[in-house]
Formats: sequence, C-alpha cells, structure tokens
Amino acid sequence: MSYIDTKLFINGQWCDALDGATIAVTNPSTGETIGVVARATKDDLERAVSAAARGFAEWRNVPAIERSKIMRRAAALLRERRDDIARLLTQEQGKPIGEARVEISFASDIIEWFADEGLRIYGRIVPPRSANVQQTVQKEPVGPVAAFTPWNFPVNQITRKLSAALTTGCSFIVKAPEETPASAAALIGAFADAGVPNGAIGLVFGDPGEVSQFLISHPIIRKITFTGSTEVGKHLAGLAGRHMKRATMELGGHAPVIIAADADVDEAVRVLGASKFRNAGQVCISPTRFLVHNSLRSDFTAALVRYANQLQLGDGLSEGTSLGPLANERRLSAMKAIVDDARRVGATVATGGYQVGTRGNFFAPTVLADVPLTASVLNDEPFGPIAAIRGFEELDEAIAEANRLPFGLAGYAFAQRLKDIQKISKDLNVGMLWINQAATPWPEMPFGGVMDSGYGSEGGSEALEPYLVSKAVTVKW
Ligand code: NAD
Repeated sequence: MSYIDTKLFINGQWCDALDGATIAVTNPSTGETIGVVARATKDDLERAVSAAARGFAEWRNVPAIERSKIMRRAAALLRERRDDIARLLTQEQGKPIGEARVEISFASDIIEWFADEGLRIYGRIVPPRSANVQQTVQKEPVGPVAAFTPWNFPVNQITRKLSAALTTGCSFIVKAPEETPASAAALIGAFADAGVPNGAIGLVFGDPGEVSQFLISHPIIRKITFTGSTEVGKHLAGLAGRHMKRATMELGGHAPVIIAADADVDEAVRVLGASKFRNAGQVCISPTRFLVHNSLRSDFTAALVRYANQLQLGDGLSEGTSLGPLANERRLSAMKAIVDDARRVGATVATGGYQVGTRGNFFAPTVLADVPLTASVLNDEPFGPIAAIRGFEELDEAIAEANRLPFGLAGYAFAQRLKDIQKISKDLNVGMLWINQAATPWPEMPFGGVMDSGYGSEGGSEALEPYLVSKAVTVKW
C-alpha cells in the first residue's frame, strides 16, 4: 500500500482543516516527504469538542454489551487490515515491518481485553444505617476525554487510552502524532467502520502546544491522558490541575537492569538485546542502564556487543532488516550528543557510536562500557539504540544506583537466588518489573510509572477507574 495523506476525523467525517493547512510527513529511512497531514485550526478543534459532547451523550447510553461488541468488531477489522496498516506505519515511523505487524496485532489484543473488562464495571450496594434506605455506588463515565500520544508506537499509544475511554462510555478526542499520522488514522478508521457513533471518537493533528492548551482548558473535556516526555507531561499536568481535569501521565523512564552474579549471561543477552534494540530503542520501557556484577561484566559486554553487531540496519520495509532508522532527526542528534559526552567523561565505546550513511536517520547499535555516573546517558533517558553498562560488587549498591534517578517506569533483573529476587522485587522503585524475562506489558497487568515517570495506569482493572466517576446515591422511601 502506498502512503496516504491524513485528514482530521470530526463528527464521523474525514475532513481537511478549515483553512486547508497541512504538515509534511517524512520517511525516516529516506528523509523524503511522503505525504501530508491536516493541521487543525481552533475552529476545527471547537467542532471536534462539540461533536465529542454529542458523541458522549449517545455513547454513554449504549449498553455495555453493545459497546463491547463494537470494540470487538474494531479489533477484528484491525487484524484484517494489519498488513496494510503495518506498511503505512513503517513508512512514517521507520520500525521493521515485522515489529509494525506485532504492534497492530497487539493493539487488537488490547482492544479485546478492554472490551471484556467494560462488562465488569459493577458499582455496589452499601448496607444502610437506617431502615427504608438504599445506598448505592454508581459508576459513570467521566465525560469527553482528550488524549495526546507520541510517535514511537503510533497505533498502540492510542489504543490503550481509546479502549479504556470507549469501554467505560466516554467519548474521546486524540491529538495523535503529526510525524506518524496515517497508521493512527487507520486505527480510528477501524473503530468508525465498526459502528462507533459519530462524535464518540475524534482525531486531530496540529501544533501540539496550541491543541493541548485548547483541549485541556475546554469546559467540555473532563479528563486528559498523555504519553511522552516528563518535561511535557509536567507542563500538561499543570494545565490539567489549573482546570481541575483528571489526568493520567505515562512519561519517560530510564530502566535499570540488574545482572546478578549468578545470572545466565547468554539468556540475559538474548532477551535484553532484543528488548534494547526493538524500535531502535525508542521505547519508554526499553532497558537502558545495565548494572552488571563485576564477575560477569566483561562476558556480558562482549555478548551484548556480538548481539548488536549481528543486527541488520536498514529500511524497515526491506527483507531482513532488524533495526530501522531513528524516527526523526532530533533523535539522531541526541544520540550523537550522548556518545560524545560519554567519550568525554571516559566511557569506552565497545561498539557503534556513529551515524550510518547520510540518507535517513540511521545510527549504529551502540554499547558503552565502564560508563561513569556523570555521563548524560546514565542520567537522561537515551531513547535510542544505546546500552550503557556499569559494574557493581554488592546487590545493595546496584539497587541504590537503580533507584538514584527520579524516574520509575520499568525495571529488569536476571538473578537466580530467591533472596536476591525478593530483595529486588521489594526495593526497586519502578511501576513495572520483569525478572528473568523480557517485558510482557499484557493488557491485564497495570502499565505505568511512579515519581517522574508519571501516574495512573494504562493496563489492568486499574486502567478503567480514572475514566469513571463514583456517584453515591442514597434513596429513602
Ligand atoms: P517532545 O518532548 O518534544 O515530545 C514528546 C511528545 O509530546 C510528542 O508526541 C509531542 O508531539 C508531544 N508534545 C510536545 N509538546 C506538547 C504540548 N505542549 N502539548 C501536547 N503534546 C506535546 O520530545 P520528542 O523529541 O518528540 O521525543 C523525545 C523525548 O520524548 C524522548 O526522549 C522521550 O523521553 C519522550 N518520549 C516518550 C515516549 C513514551 O513512550 N513515554 C514516547 C515518545 C517520546
């Protein structure tokens, strides 16, 4: 499927911006402009919000079982269209086509799980303190939701938010990423074709600052949800607070990995190598700070270097590519600055560390060894194909280092001794922890961080609560 231009989706219609303005979309493998996306004006946004108010009035009254059926239909359409959507996604975002297909299949799984979970929003009856009184707690949808999602998983970042909103009976407007709009639009298209009423879903693009300011301050919008950097998250959480809006924040991380003295190095590298370089490291739960027991440090470093060196860098649409380009030029400059800084403070560049070619945003998979704590890579989230390794002697030292930063999203460990595993499970300050295995962010498990990595969950039964209001109703007769 060749690339297609993207329109806004307002009140059940695909439309251009009222003033016809667009933003160019670039293929990160070639640097070429491949299409455009409509750039909403304030009047477009106002139309989207009015439609969301009408959509909410209708959707909240659709019985939960019918909502669930529509969502399941959308998931099925997405599965049918998977290969076409994956091609759009790879062209605009860069990841290998196999990863794009997995993203879309996983989106269907997420939608189906939320479609079922919405059937279990029960409310409760509470014993009264006097006769002839009934006390009930009714769960109601909070209202129209505004979502802001990033470019690293253009489909999945919307899916969790959209699914939680729809299954609870909320309407939903998303400002999806301008850099990767077509796959996001294909996701919305599947829901529209599945029978979601007009206005229950809106899709807009534009200037991120202008759109978020407009939507968050709009009285019709009752909740916001954002995934992206901590800096922008703090700004949007501030705006939400000023306007008394509920907020869910899924922000940056800097995932520590503890490799204990008795870890299986081959297994750890097989699992962590794949996790590290998936989506060229542009993943909020990507392992980034590798804390390796000194007795295994050189073996682990050598094995991770071998893993990195066998990756095939290339256009995500080409057969055999296992590592695509970075999604935009900003990430390329960020990688160069990280490696320059690491060299300056005395780290060893064990492999990679350079841009590959001059066409597209390709950066070699990089392993940095013996990295001093002052290096920027151990303090700011790299969000790219760079692994930083440091040794440790005692487990307590590794845990203290893992907890040193203000982030607390994902964490990983490879260890055998039960005592160590229990200590790591208890003491690591993260929202999600995977021990002796790769990340498995299944929809039935909570997904979210602590501290500067944000608040609220985008998985598990916890994910529905922020979209619901508990109304206490007491009746006497
Ligand atoms: P950025 O901070 O400029 O933007 C991050 C995201 O926020 C983008 O999708 C952007 O469109 C959006 N955004 C920016 N300003 C906004 C505003 N005022 N209102 C609403 N949305 C706004 O960074 P970037 O260069 O696009 O990405 C780099 C950093 O962002 C990474 O280092 C990483 O920390 C973070 N990031 C995190 C995730 C994640 O999954 N948590 C995804 C993408 C980016």
